[in-house]
Amino acid sequence: MRLKNLTLKNYRNCKSITLDLGFDKILIIGKNAQGKTNILESVYFLSTLKSPRTSNNQELINFDAQSVEVRSDVVKADADVELAFFYNREKTRELRVNTLKTTPKNFKSVLRTVLFATPDLLLLRGNPSDRREWLDRAISQVYPAYDERLSKYDKIRIQKNNLLKSDYIDETLLRVYNEQMAIAGSNIIFLRLKFLKEIERIAREKHKIISESEELKIQYDCSFLNGEEDVETISRLFAAALEERMNEEIRRGQSCVGPQRDDILFYINDSEATKFASQGQQRTVVLALKLSELEIITDKTGENPVLLLDDVLAELDDIRQNFLLKSIKPGVQTIITSVDTIHFEEEFLRDVKIYNIEQGQIS
Ligand code: ATP
Ligand code: MG
Repeated sequence: MRLKNLTLKNYRNCKSITLDLGFDKILIIGKNAQGKTNILESVYFLSTLKSPRTSNNQELINFDAQSVEVRSDVVKADADVELAFFYNREKTRELRVNTLKTTPKNFKSVLRTVLFATPDLLLLRGNPSDRREWLDRAISQVYPAYDERLSKYDKIRIQKNNLLKSDYIDETLLRVYNEQMAIAGSNIIFLRLKFLKEIERIAREKHKIISESEELKIQYDCSFLNGEEDVETISRLFAAALEERMNEEIRRGQSCVGPQRDDILFYINDSEATKFASQGQQRTVVLALKLSELEIITDKTGENPVLLLDDVLAELDDIRQNFLLKSIKPGVQTIITSVDTIHFEEEFLRDVKIYNIEQGQIS
């Protein structure tokens, strides 16, 4: 799939932009703070209804404006689809697919993107919550029902936490929550394990090539699991862990076990990458992961997602830059941002549509 165009009205500092995106490769060049990331963020937003930078969508509205609009015509294998997002200061949101009002689920099913931005390069350095978020976002792009499962689980978890914080704790009610948590949570863990297995298989190969034969392993780190499990086993083990740690949870007034506490561990030649890998080695892992995400989405949906590369080329050395650019198959629409063109080979620049951005305007 590809975007034919993109229209922004009062999207952050982009007051009014219309971009013709009828090209395979698009390069957006601009100095710092001109709006490059904002443009990629808006495309990512159309595909997920989430910003990679904030959970408060009010921030997307231009400081001086009352509402924001993002529109795009998406060319898919079977049809062209027009997406329109509208949101205002009163928190009224309107989602339209082909001019008809629609649900978030329907809206998000249209466009697939893979975003690779500089903060992603710190994935291995960051907190477990960063890694869980990366994983959850990647999974939602291939299993649309995953988002709903996550929010269902979160709802139960919040209710349970409220109970744990209250003065009087009804243990019968706590056990009811625990039972619900084990069922909802095991689905999440099961899908995470499944996705990680898939991504590990693909990422290992890519990683081996870029690193010249280092071995990558990915492991889901969950306190009550050790090994591959089916959903019923996960649910049973989760329920047992909740029962076992019930007194601790009551004492601490919070949930201590479950997918909200898990982590993803990366190993290079059997040593834990978060602790021991160099910055370059960690970046290689992230690059391999991102390219694998792209491949998994293509496999699962039968269409190429749109690839968004925010400033990452400047952060990679020549070998990794080349690997990345050469790995992008011809049909994959790619929107790249950069402060200048020096990182790109002449051959690459010949086939690229270049836009310059200055103070939120295309010049
Ligand atoms: P860099 O090269 O440093 O990454 P960039 O071109 O990617 O820069 P953006 O992150 O897109 O820059 O941000 C551009 C500008 O948008 C920033 O100066 C920021 O202050 C401004 N901005 C962010 N949100 C809003 C908003 N709601 N209204 C107006 N301006 C905003
Ligand atoms: Mg930026």
